[in-house]
Amino acid sequence: MTSDNAAKQKLEHFMSGLAKRNPGEPEFQQAVREVAESLIPYVLVNPRYDEAQILERLTEPDRIITFRVTWQDDTGHIRANRAWRVQFNNAIGPYKGGLRFHPTVTQSVLKFLGFEQIFKNSLTGLPMGGAKGGSNFNPRGKSTNEVMRFCQAMMRELHRHIGEDTDVPAGDIGVGSREIGFLFGQYMRLANRFTGVLTGKGLAFGGSLVRVEATGYGAVYFMQNMLATQNEDIAGKVATVSGSGNVALYCIEKLNELGATVVTASDSSGYIYDPNGINEERLAWLKDLKEVRRGRIREYADHFGCDFHEGERPWGVACQLALPCATQNELDANDASTLVTNGLIAVAEGANMPCTLDATHLFLNKQILFGPGKAANAGGVAVSGLEQSQNALRISWSRDEVDGRLKTIMRNIHDKCREHGTDDNGFINYVRGANIAGFEKVADAMLAYGVV
Ligand code: NDP
Repeated sequence: MTSDNAAKQKLEHFMSGLAKRNPGEPEFQQAVREVAESLIPYVLVNPRYDEAQILERLTEPDRIITFRVTWQDDTGHIRANRAWRVQFNNAIGPYKGGLRFHPTVTQSVLKFLGFEQIFKNSLTGLPMGGAKGGSNFNPRGKSTNEVMRFCQAMMRELHRHIGEDTDVPAGDIGVGSREIGFLFGQYMRLANRFTGVLTGKGLAFGGSLVRVEATGYGAVYFMQNMLATQNEDIAGKVATVSGSGNVALYCIEKLNELGATVVTASDSSGYIYDPNGINEERLAWLKDLKEVRRGRIREYADHFGCDFHEGERPWGVACQLALPCATQNELDANDASTLVTNGLIAVAEGANMPCTLDATHLFLNKQILFGPGKAANAGGVAVSGLEQSQNALRISWSRDEVDGRLKTIMRNIHDKCREHGTDDNGFINYVRGANIAGFEKVADAMLAYGVV
């Protein structure tokens, strides 16, 4: 049997076992398959990992805490939501990963995110394990008081399971600075401790400069590094971005600063196409719409007189750079094919797993520069790690200091991907590179611990 066939057979055997153990969890199975496609050929030539069953152990979370969150809405009705914390792996540091509030949150979604987080956190070079949490609570249409009551009710249970040396949650979809403030305030009240137990905190109470911008900026730095391998640059390129949340807004900001023209932004209702670009003034308006007024993207089109495409995603718009920054599986193989036909050079995943597996394969087959989320969007958790260091030292670094460290971390991640992902023909497969580079450190730590 050729080594290719042996790897394929082992992959299918491994995935069928995983599917049996995790029924009804398509997102988790998808995330594991993407990683296993890279890792199985690797463990076959590095049998120490195979003998210690590292892949089997790495795909089983250390624990999952599921709990009910009961709270009262503004009319006095009692509401009950479900919440989770998936503590996936702490081989190289305390559990670390965001909290997501969205009606589509399920155990499968949080397991996929927690699994990805193991590799992402390892790639940053900082001592952080992988975790994720959240709730099926829908913040849309809720008053600030309702969001506060929900956060407080959630923390009533969560506080037992987290700690600065145990598990340090942060934000994600639906959880921004406002929610972190409510969660941290309640943690302090319950634990009577002021400690770096959450990241993404406000600057007045232990937050780090550049944390808000970090994921979006980091994705653009990663894109810059990929383009440099082809003697290309961001300046003068047309970019499509999806989403209009934390990641998307700061991605657009950095792309503008580096001279690109960003022609799209979206939310779950559709996308806007602004052919002249979402310039600095328009971005300020969009930030106010999304961060302060919490409005819908259609209002941008109404205000600036450009097109709004209801219920659609922006991938039909011609561009050289695509940065999906909204949610998982928002760019499929048809979209990928359209983008390539329209002159795409590079993709950086600002969101987690925004491209389906078929789309990812298509990009790689067409030799498009493709930065997978676990590498390209690692800037957020990297600055969260820097926030933890600043909290532990009880100091605050300047904006330049943090931004400089972020740039260095993104370059190092890029270089690690290149080291482990370069094909014989020189093409850099960043997916394989990120998976192997992220895996090595975690796997070596697990080997060192013996049978645990
Ligand atoms: P936000 O909640 O700030 O923004 C999310 C954006 O995505 C909104 O525009 C939202 O639109 C849109 N969106 C959410 N769900 C869907 C959906 N099902 N279909 C279409 N659009 C959708 O979240 P973030 O910007 O923080 O996160 C975006 C992505 O980046 C996620 O995949 C997250 O896991 C990832 N990420 C975030 C990090 C961070 O530091 N925040 C770090 C690393 C990755 P609407 O308002 O209509 O729901």
